[in-house]
Amino acid sequence: MDYDVAIIGGGPAGLSAAIYAARGGLKTVVFEKGLIGGQIVLTADLENYPGFEENMSGFDLIDKMKKQADKFNAHFIEESVTAVGLEGFCKIIETSNNTYRVKSVIIATGAHPRKLAVPGEERLTGRGVSYCATCDGALYRDKIVAVVGGGDSAIEEALFLTRFTKKVYIIHRRDELRAVKIVQERALKNPKIEIVWDSIVQEILGEKFVESLLLYNKKTKEATFLNVNGAFIYVGIIPNNDLVESRVDLDRQGFIKTDMAMHTKIPGIYAAGDIVHKVLRQVVTAASDGATAAFSAEKWISENKENF
Ligand code: NAP
Repeated sequence: MDYDVAIIGGGPAGLSAAIYAARGGLKTVVFEKGLIGGQIVLTADLENYPGFEENMSGFDLIDKMKKQADKFNAHFIEESVTAVGLEGFCKIIETSNNTYRVKSVIIATGAHPRKLAVPGEERLTGRGVSYCATCDGALYRDKIVAVVGGGDSAIEEALFLTRFTKKVYIIHRRDELRAVKIVQERALKNPKIEIVWDSIVQEILGEKFVESLLLYNKKTKEATFLNVNGAFIYVGIIPNNDLVESRVDLDRQGFIKTDMAMHTKIPGIYAAGDIVHKVLRQVVTAASDGATAAFSAEKWISENKENF
């Protein structure tokens, strides 16, 4: 076998699994096709990760986690996993360049932003339509932008955008936000933020760059145009489950169902982080999942050592 544990995905869940597995003496590899860190590196301020009272960026936290995993000799391979063989005692990881044989697999592939799926969104992506305020916010200094969505991401990123912009409209489809109260209150108090309630975006307009949004108010049944220079879309996340979709149990939205030990229904296969069906998607729960999955993998390997 090439490795005891293969971890697919290098976000907080994958890195936490790598720290626990490698420290536990397992020969550990992390496959990450893009930048190490996943979605959290796009977050400017992490206020609620325990132990770090001063605000810290997602990038800084990931940097620390990666160094910790390196310290315990976890291997990192920058290759995209194209297929996996999950059954039996020899699991197969295929990448575009290589095939690896491993004893157990932790799926920590995370999630990606949901699109609004309205006319103009695709054409104007990178031309005013963005899914990352941390990456693009500074381009909108003294401009007017809209943030679409009412969850934690939308409201936190709207607050972040007020650092640069003249005004931020939050477009939400209901009359109540989904984000946690403390963040809601900050947004409601911020003089640069105006919430447009009960409204959906029907179209994003602009010739070369975003110029306006066509909004439809569900209560008044009125359509209006809102002039903005940018539209930041935060309408939820979609699990990156392509590799395993038909082989593990998924919930209705496609998140992987596991038991408390982060086991999927396949022996030796675990899932951790945002890809998992759960109540709370946070860095701290991703880290917890990763630790549990690594612990379970270690236990499973030692219980089945005569089979490898
Ligand atoms: P989310 O909690 O699923 O919220 C998505 C928001 O988009 C909801 O307000 C939803 O409206 C709205 N929405 C969904 N589809 C829409 C559509 N087609 N058109 C218009 N609006 C639409 O997603 P998220 O904010 O990306 O957060 C994902 C997870 O990460 C959550 O578990 C969240 O708590 C967590 N998170 C935590 C933190 C933190 O703790 N600091 C920060 C960011 C994210 P409805 O409310 O009407 O459904």
